[in-house]
Amino acid sequence: MLEKILIANRGEIALRILRACREMNIRTVAVHSTADRDLKHVRLADESVCIGPPSSLESYLNIPALICAAELTNADGIHPGYGFLSENAEFAEQVETSGFKFIGPSAAAIRTMGDKVAAIQAMKDAGVPTVPGSDGPLDDNGPRNIEIARKIGYPVIIKAAGGGGGRGMRVVENEESLLNSIQLTRSEAAAAFNNDTVYMEKFLGAPRHIEIQVLADAHGNAIHLGERDCSMQRRHQKVVEEAPAPGITPEQRAEIGGRCVEACVQMGYEGAGTFEFLYEDGEFYFIEMNTRVQVEHPVTELVTWVDIIKEQISIASGNPLRFQQSDIEMHGHAIECRINAEDPRTFLPSPGKITLYHAPGGPGVRMDSHIYNGYSVPPYYDSMIGKLITFGNTRDSAIARMNGALSEIVIEGIKTNIDLQQRILSDPRFAEGGTDIHYLEKKLASE
Ligand code: ADP
Repeated sequence: MLEKILIANRGEIALRILRACREMNIRTVAVHSTADRDLKHVRLADESVCIGPPSSLESYLNIPALICAAELTNADGIHPGYGFLSENAEFAEQVETSGFKFIGPSAAAIRTMGDKVAAIQAMKDAGVPTVPGSDGPLDDNGPRNIEIARKIGYPVIIKAAGGGGGRGMRVVENEESLLNSIQLTRSEAAAAFNNDTVYMEKFLGAPRHIEIQVLADAHGNAIHLGERDCSMQRRHQKVVEEAPAPGITPEQRAEIGGRCVEACVQMGYEGAGTFEFLYEDGEFYFIEMNTRVQVEHPVTELVTWVDIIKEQISIASGNPLRFQQSDIEMHGHAIECRINAEDPRTFLPSPGKITLYHAPGGPGVRMDSHIYNGYSVPPYYDSMIGKLITFGNTRDSAIARMNGALSEIVIEGIKTNIDLQQRILSDPRFAEGGTDIHYLEKKLASE
């Protein structure tokens, strides 16, 4: 097993990784910016290293500083968490060439999946269903692009091959605006992602977002841990997630999960990963693969009893998977509400000092958060300050527990989205399950 892990991240996921390391008797190195000296995991880690000023570019995205910190502390593995450098192939490569184990897939796998056109091709080769589209990048041949769109049928969506975080996409309703939209998306993509490759897909009108969690080891074994439904989104950002996805049958799960597993084996994928799909009229359409642990991994952990972070570490240590597909059963239902330091109506970030904090508790309640009484939320990073996750034997009981937990939690001094989460959890359509990815924005617009 790896003996000392440097956690190249901050906030709740850094704390989550630290907790897994402690359970596994692995020593920990926390790295932090000058704005993050008071992070909870920095206090709990065996060692800590300040890697730079508050700006992420100079700290959490600073590859030489991170490698230097690993060298100074004699770490043998680096866990990238999510966000920051977690899907940066260059980082994975430099970690490995510097003699450390990158806790994640190979740089080559990250590179392929980071290019959405290459990722879609890899999925097609492995028999994973994809969205009808341009089958590769679009060139500047206007008549041909018009022809492709006609074949797919409007509306279509133009997407940047290098896009991420919900950016670099444009929906096109009709032929008049097609060529202009391709040009606009191309120049935006060049500026934002330093890659002007764009492609075209059918725009699905009312899909759900359903994703499959996989684990694959370095010995050619792979399993899936079922699916999560992350359709409750605002501006392509997930707000509430749950597992399993309402209405998905065991047969559907086995079918789509099996294809993802097959794709992992074909690609020689190693580590944890997520295949994201849009789901409409009973069909799954692959949109992208995330080659890291995801924010919403706890809902899968609660229904499968598999600790995904511990498995990542075990796999990176070279061990074979400790589970076979037949060992994985889904039990009950789990829901996650992301807790953000933001105004619940305007959604503007609300950093500042937390003057009072009471965590929720009770049966089936898990709070993954680094905040504490007196902690100051810095203005420099993502506004998510924690995740509240509840579990129940049924979806209804998970919802009831979430309602209870949301009403119990007290966070004073800053604004949070708890009120928004309560509005979602008490929504009758949410209670039925299976709302599409546009539901939340429509609900907000009508309130
Ligand atoms: P990113 O990497 O930026 O997250 P994705 O390809 O995962 O990009 O897409 C993000 C979101 O954009 C999806 O969750 C969905 O809401 C919307 N979207 C993407 N592709 C389509 C499509 N073909 N039809 C409808 N919505 C789409």
